[in-house]
Amino acid sequence: MSVNEAVHKVEDKVKNLVLNNKSEEQKNVEKSEKNNTQKKAKGNNGKQSALYLNPEPEFIEERNAMFDRLQLSYAESVAQKPRAVLKVVLKDGSEKEATAWETSPMDIAKQIAKSFPDKQCISKVNGELWDLDRPLEGSEGETIKLEFFDFESEEGKRVFWHSSAHVLGEACECNLGAHICLGPPTDDGFFYEFAIKNGAGVPADTPERTVSQADFPNLESVAKNVIKEKQKFERLVMSKEDLLKMFHYSKYKTYLVQTKIPDGGATTVYRCGKLIDLCVGPHIPHTGRIKAFKLLKNSSCYFLGEATNDSLQRIYGVSFPDKKLMDAHLKFLAEASMRDHRKIGREQELFYFNEMSPGSCFWLPHGTRIYNTLVEMLRTEYRKRGYDEVITPNMYNAKLWHTSGHWANYKENMFTFDVEKEQFGLKPMNCPGHCIMFKSRERSYRELPWRVADFGVIHRNEFSGALSGLTRVRRFQQDDAHIFCAQSQIEQEIENIFDFLKYAYGVFGFEFKMELSTRPEKYLGDLETWNNAEAKLEGALRKWGGKWELNPGDGAFYGPKIDIMISDALRRWFQCATIQLDFQLPTRFELEFKSQEGDGYERPVMIHRAVLGSVERMTAILTEHFAGKWPFWLSPRQVLVVPVGVKYQDYAKEVRDMLVEQEFYADVDLSGNTLQKKVRNGQLLKYNFIFIVGEQEMSERSVNIRNRDVMEMQGKNATIDLETVFKQLQALKRTKSLENVLGDN
Ligand SMILES: [Zn+2]
Ligand SMILES: [Zn+2]
Repeated sequence: MSVNEAVHKVEDKVKNLVLNNKSEEQKNVEKSEKNNTQKKAKGNNGKQSALYLNPEPEFIEERNAMFDRLQLSYAESVAQKPRAVLKVVLKDGSEKEATAWETSPMDIAKQIAKSFPDKQCISKVNGELWDLDRPLEGSEGETIKLEFFDFESEEGKRVFWHSSAHVLGEACECNLGAHICLGPPTDDGFFYEFAIKNGAGVPADTPERTVSQADFPNLESVAKNVIKEKQKFERLVMSKEDLLKMFHYSKYKTYLVQTKIPDGGATTVYRCGKLIDLCVGPHIPHTGRIKAFKLLKNSSCYFLGEATNDSLQRIYGVSFPDKKLMDAHLKFLAEASMRDHRKIGREQELFYFNEMSPGSCFWLPHGTRIYNTLVEMLRTEYRKRGYDEVITPNMYNAKLWHTSGHWANYKENMFTFDVEKEQFGLKPMNCPGHCIMFKSRERSYRELPWRVADFGVIHRNEFSGALSGLTRVRRFQQDDAHIFCAQSQIEQEIENIFDFLKYAYGVFGFEFKMELSTRPEKYLGDLETWNNAEAKLEGALRKWGGKWELNPGDGAFYGPKIDIMISDALRRWFQCATIQLDFQLPTRFELEFKSQEGDGYERPVMIHRAVLGSVERMTAILTEHFAGKWPFWLSPRQVLVVPVGVKYQDYAKEVRDMLVEQEFYADVDLSGNTLQKKVRNGQLLKYNFIFIVGEQEMSERSVNIRNRDVMEMQGKNATIDLETVFKQLQALKRTKSLENVLGDN
């Protein structure tokens, strides 16, 4: 008898022991499932073998046998635990009785309402997330706080997607023989990462098989079977020693066990179906809760995100407890990908990235038009609202960053270098430069509030792997401003900023809401200043009357702040603007102004504020918000003049020149293309208006207008004389209208 056979014999015995421990009902279920699988395998041989590796990786059965054995002794130890009576208090204050080591949150859920248990993804026991089927623990008379979370909740969704990642992991093992590594939930689904190179039965020198989208149908089929089998998530606590034995086949899991668990320590594994995974959990009760499961994309990554580690493959997916939710999500994804700013940026030739400077955008001519128009809009408002624009250096001696505190707290996010043996850093923020300006001469209370605006170029050292289009960059400009004011002026200044936000976001058609973050546990400055400032911010928010929430304790250590969230056309929320009160920087730079009373000096408060935030990121948001159909005032391509034939080219050029003269972005198409093709090109590039000129237009000095957004008017417009059109275009630009309509205004 070989060693292997011997081991299997022992394992079989162990399995029998476990089976004997199960209820009759369970055994019957298992029997019928086994029959089903056998039938399936017979009737569907070719297909099944494409779905499941044959033979299956050895580690699957090895792990399973070990789990069975340990689960048995765990069950024995649980049997010994005292069955204390517990008092369970639910969220609504109602009370239930429970027995320690027997009653599970699921048992309690069943007492609440008939349809209630099936909707719940996870529970929380005394603030700790807890598997619904895991029995409660506690001593006699103990009170247990119990909460439930369904898919609509943040907690429920994460657990649901995390559990779905296990289903994907199981499919990757069974179908690809993968050695899986990590499979967390994300903000919009989940992924699992793995290596195939070292998989079962594969010679070590075989190159890694690269998974492609062509593998998705098979993986999804295995996942579907996993879901159909309603595999339970079974929890088991295991010692580090046992874990190392169980996961000996995988260098990744072995590494995780070795580095994350202290010697003599323990953690949990979860079994669902053939998969046993190192995981702290928790999970949904069983895989049958997943009603829709889809794989979306794949990519490569490094183990633990470090470039010196093994390269791994990653598959992303999403799942829902309802098919309708999946349909809605896929529709949303299609719409979002159509609007992707990187795609539109390419199509409209707005911006471009090159590996010679990762994370720093090349703004092409048409993108630069948008950039400058946004900045110009802010400049116009600055003049009206009493801001002074300044220009400040990009690089500063490290001494400045020592004073500001950036060297101690922010250095790893900065680009630093030596100049003539002294250390310098590129600015990641404008604030310290403005403090130097404030200090350049004596200041009086009469000059306050001093509102200093700066479009200075900012650099932050983001990891190259984290860079993404215009949303995560290394080089950017903000519509940044700092307001130096007296404490008594805070409230009025905040109200002014709210008014500014309302105007700017109104122009783009964004809905917005605010969040006030107050004093954290660790804070600098005196309590009275904090209380005073928080009261003023709250007062301003109440007066404003819009949507706002309180985030107690979430402020920065140097002052309370207000975050502003905007919602775009796809109802996605983004944080762009912030209003941050700062008592610390004025202290660090020893700023002061001559006070109104007496001969003394006072310390100003500094308000950091931005409306658009980064112009780069705002351009990305606006591109997706408008789906590339820019409102006229912001559009980099406002009018295309198209002559219907060679005879009318001179007139077309003349119209174009007149438009350019009036500072519109206008082009003329003098190519040899057909009229239809020219119009089509203009539409693809999203010109707001296409002016068609022929015999009638030339003789009347008019144009025939096609409106980008009014499809039913395509091709059957009346001609309008040039003078009227120019006036209408001017009005449309001046009013910054979101509607692409020429009217009488
Ligand atoms: Zn897990
Ligand atoms: Zn600042």
